Amino acid sequence: MEREKLIEELKNSIRDIPDFPKKGIIFKDITTLLKDGRKFREAIDCIVERYKDKKIDKVVAIEARGFILGSVVAYQLGAGIVPVRKKGKLPYETNSVEYELEYGKDSLEMHKDAIKPDDKVLVVDDLLATGGTMNAVCDLIERSKGEVAEVAFLIELGFLKGRDRLKGRKIFSLIKF
Ligand code: AMP
Repeated sequence: MEREKLIEELKNSIRDIPDFPKKGIIFKDITTLLKDGRKFREAIDCIVERYKDKKIDKVVAIEARGFILGSVVAYQLGAGIVPVRKKGKLPYETNSVEYELEYGKDSLEMHKDAIKPDDKVLVVDDLLATGGTMNAVCDLIERSKGEVAEVAFLIELGFLKGRDRLKGRKIFSLIKF
């Protein structure tokens, strides 16, 4: 299928949930895309295609929907997978960072020994909103002296200007609203 048509089809398979988890937020529910085997594969293939020759050492994936996408991308690239999790979930010593969400404040953690200096890292999450989450995760990676090669999203909510927050970084998003 022609790429533009495919992306349109993927876009149309995402479900809007108004007022979730809070009034005023339109939640982009990707489970309607993920449950379709062909669409899931095509979405992942589009991301993998972009990075297959980029010598990525590690994919960092953000809890929880980022795990679903990040781990298959890492597998296809032959890269390691590193989870970034909500506070208190990781068992070993961690670095942590506070971040602001479109709907609240929280902190994220990554194991101290997950990233080696000069590791070439691709960060994967499901959705770019204000960019606060991704910005925080990039900080964590750079604290470990990793190189953030690019950040990749399935969805970008352009009207929230997350790109401005991530200024200076290479950003890829497959589906734009
Ligand atoms: P932000 O830090 O504002 O860019 O928010 C991005 C994070 O919050 C991602 O991990 C998303 O999963 C989640 N998120 C924010 N807004 C939405 C939304 N409208 N629909 C689905 N997920 C969202």
